[in-house]
Amino acid sequence: MSDSESDCLFCKLLAGELPCSVIRETDTTFAFRDANPQAPTHVLLVPRSHYPDAAALAAEDPALLVDLFHVAADVAEEEGVAESGYRLLFNTGADAGQTVFHAHLHLLGGQPLGPLVG
Ligand code: 5GP
Ligand code: ZN
Repeated sequence: MSDSESDCLFCKLLAGELPCSVIRETDTTFAFRDANPQAPTHVLLVPRSHYPDAAALAAEDPALLVDLFHVAADVAEEEGVAESGYRLLFNTGADAGQTVFHAHLHLLGGQPLGPLVG
């Protein structure tokens, strides 16, 4: 395990070293509730493998990126937001406000969502 992985919060959640509210697990992905939800449904979808951001994930394992979107669609169904609508987004880098440098897809829904930038 590299230094970045041993220091990584989401690698610790994946390893069960820290608690989180798990929604769904697959061989390649992990989905859990955000600790500071920004909407009634706020789930984080993460690859089990450590990539620092979505750009690295896309470059190094595009099939895994697609897996995240499939799991997101399943979670949206389970959470009852598939019909009403939901938002999927990756924060990438400082200006986007990325705080955890293990690629993660946010799934937000359960209410009308505000402007994308605000
Ligand atoms: P970012 O800003 O990097 O795109 O998103 C990181 C997200 O991780 C934030 O929405 C934040 O609330 C969430 N988060 C940070 N620490 C924890 C934690 O320990 N557990 C869970 N479940 N979510 C966390
Ligand atoms: Zn990690």
